[in-house]
Amino acid sequence: MDLPVASMANSLQYPGLTPRSAGLIPTVSVVAPAYNEQEVLGEFYRRVAAVLSGLGCEYEIVLVNDGSRDQTLALMHALHAQDPRVTVVDLSRNFGKEIALSAGLDHTKGEVVVVLDSDLQDPPELIPQMLDLWRQGYDVIYGTRTVRDGETWFKKTTANYFYRLIKKVSRVDIPKDTGDFRLMSRRAVASLSRLREEHRFMKGLFAWIGFPSKALPYRRDPRAAGETKWNYWKLWNFAIEGITSFTVAPLKISTYLGLLVAVLSLIYAAFVIWKALIYSDPVRGYPSLMAVILFLGGVQLISVGLLGEYVGRIFNEVKRRPLYLVNRRLDSTLPGSCAGTTDNAA
Ligand code: UDP
Ligand code: MG
Repeated sequence: MDLPVASMANSLQYPGLTPRSAGLIPTVSVVAPAYNEQEVLGEFYRRVAAVLSGLGCEYEIVLVNDGSRDQTLALMHALHAQDPRVTVVDLSRNFGKEIALSAGLDHTKGEVVVVLDSDLQDPPELIPQMLDLWRQGYDVIYGTRTVRDGETWFKKTTANYFYRLIKKVSRVDIPKDTGDFRLMSRRAVASLSRLREEHRFMKGLFAWIGFPSKALPYRRDPRAAGETKWNYWKLWNFAIEGITSFTVAPLKISTYLGLLVAVLSLIYAAFVIWKALIYSDPVRGYPSLMAVILFLGGVQLISVGLLGEYVGRIFNEVKRRPLYLVNRRLDSTLPGSCAGTTDNAA
């Protein structure tokens, strides 16, 4: 039988939602970090500009050059010269995608901000749909991949387990199959830019800010051109980054493992003493001795390594270095001011 409360709940809207007016046209900033993307940047600009000009809104495209070694920066300068709605943020070196994206977000001025990969894996054609959801009152509209083309079985399975694990051990609920592709309201971007940690596990940070959020399923295309910068070693480090920056569960595990081993050794010690007293054979037991020593050595090294992971992160955070440095910025004509400055944004 259907409970009346349950059916009522189904018909109710998300309670924290305040709808914006239906015809509202906000100013839009699109942010895209780029590292060696000379093959796709021109096409990226064309597709994004086509979508944005169709919206009839004022917009800017914030391109972040993350220390590219090819013609990416020259292309960005050319785009800025041709279209004053393009902002170019040239970082002083390669800082990695997470930081490049944060630098881009710091330099946006729009009322809504859309994050895209510059390799065209995220279709800019979805922006109008995202805006419709924004008008319903959502602060964050994130794309979730329905199919993962061109990825191996191994990568899909490990990714799946990783998200399940991180959901179990940390309090933030990171949506599955979700990348950086999303539309955010100004207050979501402002909240995100208050998180200045050095170790930037973006999926976790995106989830941490909360606010009314909505998933928008989409088909993630393969790269338009060029090569992915990911490999399994990077993915492994990414997983460690995700876990260590959002939970201290591994430290607890090593505590409990230590307790368990201590209890077991106590029982075993009692057994050994009892045997020595009854049979008085003190020399035998080399294999068991070796097994115990090696096992304990292993457990101790793993625990020390775990501790080290966290201490290393503390070390990086306490230095309080700026997240990035900007070599040069070419600003778009979109009115308003952004949080970042040309020198840096601490
Ligand atoms: N990227 C970046 N700095 C880097 C590596 C990548 O800004 O050090 C950018 C890259 O240009 C692209 C996005 O981050 O726009 C995603 O990178 P990639 O396509 O290599 O990753 P994947 O899509 O395979 O996860
Ligand atoms: Mg890509």
